[in-house]
Amino acid sequence: MNKIIQKTIIGLIFIILIVFGVTQIRRHKNDEKYRNCNKNEVARIKKIEDISQFLDSGDCMGENMEILHLIYDIKITSSYLRIPSSMTEKVSSWLNGNSNLIKEVNHQKVIEVRNKFTNEATNFNPIRAKRPNVQVSDQKPFLESLIEKSLDNCDFCSPENNTAEEIWGRIRTSTSISAANLFRMVGPYNGIIISNKHSILDLGLEDYWDMFRCANLWFQKISSENRTLTHGMLLWDMFPRAGASQIHTHLQIFIDENFIGQHLTNYLASQTYREAHDRDYWKDIIDLHCKLGLGLKVGSVYAITLLNSHKDNEILIIGDQVNEDFIHLLFTIIQIYQRNLGLYCLSMGMSWPLINSTTKYSALLRIGTRGDCSSQFNDISSVELYSFYNINTDPFRVIRLLRNHIFGDF
Ligand SMILES: [Zn+2]
Repeated sequence: MNKIIQKTIIGLIFIILIVFGVTQIRRHKNDEKYRNCNKNEVARIKKIEDISQFLDSGDCMGENMEILHLIYDIKITSSYLRIPSSMTEKVSSWLNGNSNLIKEVNHQKVIEVRNKFTNEATNFNPIRAKRPNVQVSDQKPFLESLIEKSLDNCDFCSPENNTAEEIWGRIRTSTSISAANLFRMVGPYNGIIISNKHSILDLGLEDYWDMFRCANLWFQKISSENRTLTHGMLLWDMFPRAGASQIHTHLQIFIDENFIGQHLTNYLASQTYREAHDRDYWKDIIDLHCKLGLGLKVGSVYAITLLNSHKDNEILIIGDQVNEDFIHLLFTIIQIYQRNLGLYCLSMGMSWPLINSTTKYSALLRIGTRGDCSSQFNDISSVELYSFYNINTDPFRVIRLLRNHIFGDF
């Protein structure tokens, strides 16, 4: 009798070990699959409008379909409209006579995305980029003239004499220098990182790397003087169209006891998500977007075109540290905006990994395009200021450009 019980227990233990082993192998294989999400195992979606068919099929998504519904609410709305014959020729010229686009105008789809944890609402309709007065012209001659004219009275070309400094002085690196913002935008400390290159168009990879190195030293210096200041943030607007008040290359940086504004919203969303689902918000965002074909891993960092983007062609860079991979990816993205898309007016916002803190939180940088630098029409309106984010480009297109540029295999 005892022998029978003994054999049964041994048998059960054996079965449990086999089941546990198979589960671990499957989990490992899944992890590997997600790590290689820039390869073949992604949903076959070519453009944002196709996401409606995909949501029905859940093509090759696995548990990411649950994550999609956990984080996002996606609604596709459409209705027919009638274009009077008196307008047909005009509309056709806006669309370069493309019969498929003309059909699309008659029956447009708007993809409405809501992030359930941040409540950001983003509406995509790429055909809006075909509207009159929003199309992009060759801006190089306009920008070169703007840069040339701004050289005459540029305070940032001689920052030691023409900018303020903190009580303790400045941070100086190979090609960058810090200044105190004379007219504080945010407290308690609001600095500027100024490159020794006046023109953004002349920046090389080393110049980008040096500005971020200077920013890091500025954060470290202030945090070492006041240990409660641990949350660094950074902004960059390129050219007046994007909001810059100086043409000369410069970043805005600030540091506080907590993140503020949208950075705080993101941080709190990650905390709420963990409390509600015992999962890592940013890891799930990365896995989901990679699976959808909206993300790729480049070295130790990721590039993601978020479903809850704020601006056209927006890309999120996410990494544990602001390292060489991080800066190289930012440099590559800006090159693609400038060379492939002919877009030079850009806005960027970033939260830095926590400084002098045991709490781990990734570096998050979002950058998007601001339309034609020479246009008299603004790309931001009451829609973005008081309602929702309106995206006129296709996130699948911009990530495809990036993937092609980096891997050349898609
Ligand atoms: Zn200058």
